[in-house]
Amino acid sequence: MQLSADMLTLAEEFGISPDTFPKLEVEAGALTSVGSYLKDKGWDKAVLIMDAQTKAAAGDRLAALLEAESVHVHVIELLANQHGQVNADEASLIQVLVETPMDTDVLLAVGAGTIHDITRFCSLKLSVPFVAVPTAASVDGFTSKGAPLILRGVKQTIQTAAPVAVFADLDVLCAAPGPLTAAGFGDLLGKFTSLLDWEISASVGGEPYNALAARMTRHSLDTCVDHIEEIAKADEAGIRILMESLIESGLVMQILDFSRPASGAEHHLSHYWEMHLLKTDKRQLLHGAKVGVACAIITELYKSWAEQFDVSEAEGETGAGLRHNWEDIRLKIASLPTAEVLRYYLYQVGAPASSQEIGIDDELVQDSLNEAYHLRDRCTGLFLINQFKKEQISYPLQDRIGSR
Ligand SMILES: [Zn+2]
Repeated sequence: MQLSADMLTLAEEFGISPDTFPKLEVEAGALTSVGSYLKDKGWDKAVLIMDAQTKAAAGDRLAALLEAESVHVHVIELLANQHGQVNADEASLIQVLVETPMDTDVLLAVGAGTIHDITRFCSLKLSVPFVAVPTAASVDGFTSKGAPLILRGVKQTIQTAAPVAVFADLDVLCAAPGPLTAAGFGDLLGKFTSLLDWEISASVGGEPYNALAARMTRHSLDTCVDHIEEIAKADEAGIRILMESLIESGLVMQILDFSRPASGAEHHLSHYWEMHLLKTDKRQLLHGAKVGVACAIITELYKSWAEQFDVSEAEGETGAGLRHNWEDIRLKIASLPTAEVLRYYLYQVGAPASSQEIGIDDELVQDSLNEAYHLRDRCTGLFLINQFKKEQISYPLQDRIGSR
């Protein structure tokens, strides 16, 4: 895929040479290009990291293609836990570290987000480069350095290695299970609230902001919304748009070296739910499925805040900042699509649209609305609502927020 002129400008602004970006190939049949890429690099001992599903989706075929180009292949098939899931936890990390031969030249992550997180951590620790072979357009983190890992049952994001190349085969991505593609769309839909939160964090919190990066992330979001029907059909054109948008959003975060444009209160809710599921030893949900649902809930909350909050009651330094920027924030919230529209977008791509559909009960949503802002030291709308609330936020939202 071609990097946009904006991406090159942004990289230059941050003193990053585009040569340090991963090689990006988003094409039908991209699997067939991996072998020659490895040969060019002089890497002929490859470890393929996959699970039972991604082995069937692409792993076996990639292994055969590489062997035909006389690359020596060692397959690590990650074992599922008692919920039938592979998590980026100690068990998976140790499995890869134990099973990777000492003379390995390159690791290949063949899977969705979790397999990439496991691989990027091991890549850093083993000092072996890794190549991303996504099997679904499911998250915007393929190119990122941050790996959310579950360590001793607690999720934490560790800075690790970015891939040296991404080979996203559209034939594989189009055939991916529908919920994974829908989750990729949900992760992008979250940009409606993350971009607004980034503006709030800048205007009220004095946090770093970059207008070009915001515009580019907005462009990725708008492109996907404009092409929602193709994405829902999962045809080649739609999946290309979705995957390229996810990669672009990821690259913007990589250049800025922080996740603000792509991660606001909707991600904080998602993390809060995830931690609860871990604590109670439940099955994990797809990241993008949670983010999409949370984006609609946060939008609902922000809209009722914008309509009902009496900003003159906001005190202190933060209150002064909020009063100064209130008109602007209020108008920006008003310009967000309604929660109903966001839920309809999710419905159109076959994504879960409500917390009930993903098995998150109202009590947990309510707890997250009141507590999740603690998770990150970021001045989001959710943080401000909690700063100036007169009573606990209830869910389903019904009462007036803030002033009574
Ligand atoms: Zn995300």
